[in-house]
Amino acid sequence: MDKNLISSFPVNVVLVGVTKNHPASIIVEAAKNGISHIAENRVQEAKHKYDEIGKCGLVWHLIGHLQTNKARTAVDIFDIIESVDSLHLIEVLNEEAARIGKVQDILLQLNLTHETQKTGFNEQDYQEVLQVLPRFSNLRLRGLMVIAKDTENIEETRPVFRQAKEMFSQLQQKYPVDILSMGMTNDYKIAIEEGATEVRLGRALFGERDYSVRY
Ligand SMILES: *Cc1c(COP(=O)(O)O)cnc(C)c1O
Repeated sequence: MDKNLISSFPVNVVLVGVTKNHPASIIVEAAKNGISHIAENRVQEAKHKYDEIGKCGLVWHLIGHLQTNKARTAVDIFDIIESVDSLHLIEVLNEEAARIGKVQDILLQLNLTHETQKTGFNEQDYQEVLQVLPRFSNLRLRGLMVIAKDTENIEETRPVFRQAKEMFSQLQQKYPVDILSMGMTNDYKIAIEEGATEVRLGRALFGERDYSVRY
């Protein structure tokens, strides 16, 4: 675990430790070393860890695509669901949150690079969803999440982050949103330069993931 990175991190940017494909013990260790937010990308994996160690006083983020049949578990576990990418999912999440009397914090995931393998709203669907979102009283919109293109030339990510920041600023004029989640190990420095309020770091903090083990 890169303790220097944690202790030297800019105080105005939330550092989310991405613990997917690591054992539950790394979450406990992260908490001991000053991390206060962690993220998982699969509900089942997160549930196993959650059942093992509990919340550890951390804020839990979901950052992977969420299937509606896992929405109930996701609402039980996660403080913030960042990967909200369809109107249908919004409807189901609102229902599940209402069922347990929770107001669920969410981010809308944007697909600004229009890669087909990526989920998230394109610009037009995003505008349409914003129109109807106020109807869902058990959801609280906290902001936007963006994943840039995985590219060798890291400067190529900058225009995407800049566009996201622009959309976030416009959103702030209508909603009391406070989270712009963008930047991962390869591109987080550029994301911070372009206005990220939160970055999601896996490898930079915890080293390479071992995909041969299922947690
Ligand atoms: C895995 C993942 C990360 C962390 O990636 P690293 O390159 O290890 O920092 C961040 N965001 C999302 C959505 C992810 O799936």
